[in-house]
Order: sequence, then structure tokens, then C-alpha cells
Amino acid sequence: MAKLIDRFGREVTYLRMSVTDRCDFRCVYCMSEDMTFLPKEQVLTLEELAFIGETFVDLGVKKIRLTGGEPLVRHNVQQLFRHLGALENLDELTFTTNGSHLSQYATELKESGVKRINISLDSLKADRFKELTRIGKLEKVLEGIDSAIANGFDRIKLNAVILSGRNDDEVLSLLRYALGRGLDISYIEEMPLGAITEHNRGEAFCSSQALRDIISEEFELIPTSENTGGPSRYWRVPGYDSRVGFISPHSENFCDTCNRVRLTVEGRLLLCLGNEHSIDLRSVVRAYPGDKEKLTEAIMQGMEIKPERHYFELENEPQILRFMNTTGG
Ligand code: SAM
Ligand code: SF4
Repeated sequence: MAKLIDRFGREVTYLRMSVTDRCDFRCVYCMSEDMTFLPKEQVLTLEELAFIGETFVDLGVKKIRLTGGEPLVRHNVQQLFRHLGALENLDELTFTTNGSHLSQYATELKESGVKRINISLDSLKADRFKELTRIGKLEKVLEGIDSAIANGFDRIKLNAVILSGRNDDEVLSLLRYALGRGLDISYIEEMPLGAITEHNRGEAFCSSQALRDIISEEFELIPTSENTGGPSRYWRVPGYDSRVGFISPHSENFCDTCNRVRLTVEGRLLLCLGNEHSIDLRSVVRAYPGDKEKLTEAIMQGMEIKPERHYFELENEPQILRFMNTTGG
């Protein structure tokens, strides 16, 4: 069976697919308040997304994460979940959500084969949650988390972007919330994607080590070598089932073990989150509908240009002009 191996010998086994650039939130670190979204004809159809996902699985991809934008705002997205969930050689279908529509879809998604979910949660204070997301209602998200727990997914992970002076005082309360419910949690360092106006990214920066120092005041953290196929590095708190992860694109470069590529909803195959190297897969699937060989050729070309690493610098932001919602975070 063909495999996806880049010039540095890294095997690509993980595809993150953005299924929409739209979202019902406007998180301050992710989007600007006024966003212009893509016109429909530039967006891959659900059938095109399914075909591309399937081709990647034929090429040895074992894990697909659907993301966005907010995946659950795309009309009929369940159809894509069902298609990918039925692929025999795919070990894991998962997705990242802001949780606002989760209570409505949790049961159906579980039935389509999703075993793990990531839910973003940056604050447990309703006012602050609204401020950070500009729109979101904390209550709805907590309801979504409860329904995910009730549906018995194998693993649920919370993702929290921590910004100094905005929510760094909630590092411990978010951890207590996760531990109390048997959920994993990952703390994410903010990445300089897209030009945002609300805060200075350099000043808001919180390193993963600073967060571990805060946590160590109340909990013992034991490093582990556990890996879920993503960029998080995990610690454990003795006596609890939860994993505590840190995604540290600035302070702890994780590129040497990179096993992933991203597909934007416009069909751009991005070979690295922090670089613009890409291959246009939309033009291939539209010029040769249903032709797996042509698509495979294009994906293979991507392996030749996957960069060795990213260079994020807080001072010269943003180096990458696309926002996280178009990138497929
Ligand atoms: N809408 C879904 C959600 O919020 O979970 C999925 C898409 S969102 C872009 C995926 C993840 O990226 C979220 O956990 C979000 O917090 C994170 N994110 C967005 N912008 C970011 C940035 N500039 N730096 C770091 N993480 C970011
Ligand atoms: Fe939407 Fe997710 Fe971006 Fe927030 S982080 S604006 S929920 S896509």
C-alpha cells in the first residue's frame, strides 16, 4: 500500500480537514469581528471532501479530524461524518467543536463512528466567555459537554487557549472542571495566525511552562510519553483518569515528529501550519472528478514540499495571514 512520506522521512498519517470557514462565534484570537466568508463555489462540496478524505485513507492516513470554522454549522455535515466513519482503514475519526450545537448532534455523531471529540473552552465565567468568543453562550457549551459525556465517547478533550491578563487566572478552575468529569484538557499557546486587533499577542503570551508552574501549586504533574497523534505533550495528575496536555508551538517546537497535513475548505492542502507551502486539490478534483490517480499524484507532490519546521515569532506578527478558521485548527 502506498504511503505518504516526506523529504525528512516523516510519515503523514493524520489529516485535518476544515469543513467550513464559517462559525457562530468570533473568538478574539481566531477571527476579527467583521469576517468575510468564502463564496459557496469556492468551498469544497461534502462529496468532494468525502472523496479527498477517502483518497488520503487509501494512502495510509489513519486519523482524520474534521474542524473549521465550526464544523457543526455546515448544513448536512453528518453525511460526511457517516461516509468517513464507514471507511474500514481509518482508525480514528474525530472533530473539534466550540460545543454550541453539540447537544443537538452528539448522539448522531457517536453513531457515525466518532470516538473522541475536542471541545474548546477558554473560560467558565459566562461574562468572560462571551467577551472571548464575542457571541458565545457558556451555558450552551456546558450543555454540549454534558451531552457528549452522556453519549459515552471514549475520550473528550477540552482545548483552552490561555492569554495572559484575560483568562490565565482560570487555569486551575478549568483543570478542576476537567478532572471532576474525567475529561482530558490541553492548554494551547496562542499562534500568530491572521491579523487580530483586540490584544497584543506578545503581551498576551503565556508559555506552557508558566501554566505548569501554576498547576503545580495545587496538583502534582507527572510527565508521560503518551501520544494521541497530535501536537500535545501530556502530563498526568495522580489519582485521576484525565490527561493534561500542552500545545506549545512557540516554546517547545514539535515539528520533528510532525505526522499531519491540513486541507482548507477551499481545497488547499497545507503542508505546515506555519508556512504557506500548499497544493491546490480543488482544481484537481474539479478537473478530474472521481479520478483517484490524479488526486494521489497531486497529494504525493505535496510530500516533496512539506517544510521541515515552522518559525513563529511573537514580535513580527503575523507571518501567516490566513486565520485559524480557514486553516483548519
Ligand atoms: N470552531 C471549533 C473550535 O473552536 O473548537 C474548531 C475550529 S478552531 C479554529 C480549532 C482550535 O483552534 C480551537 O481550540 C481554538 O481555540 C484554536 N485556535 C483558534 N485560533 C487560534 C490561535 N490563533 N492560536 C491558537 N489556537 C487557536
Ligand atoms: Fe469559531 Fe473555533 Fe475560531 Fe472560535 S476558535 S471563532 S469557535 S472557529
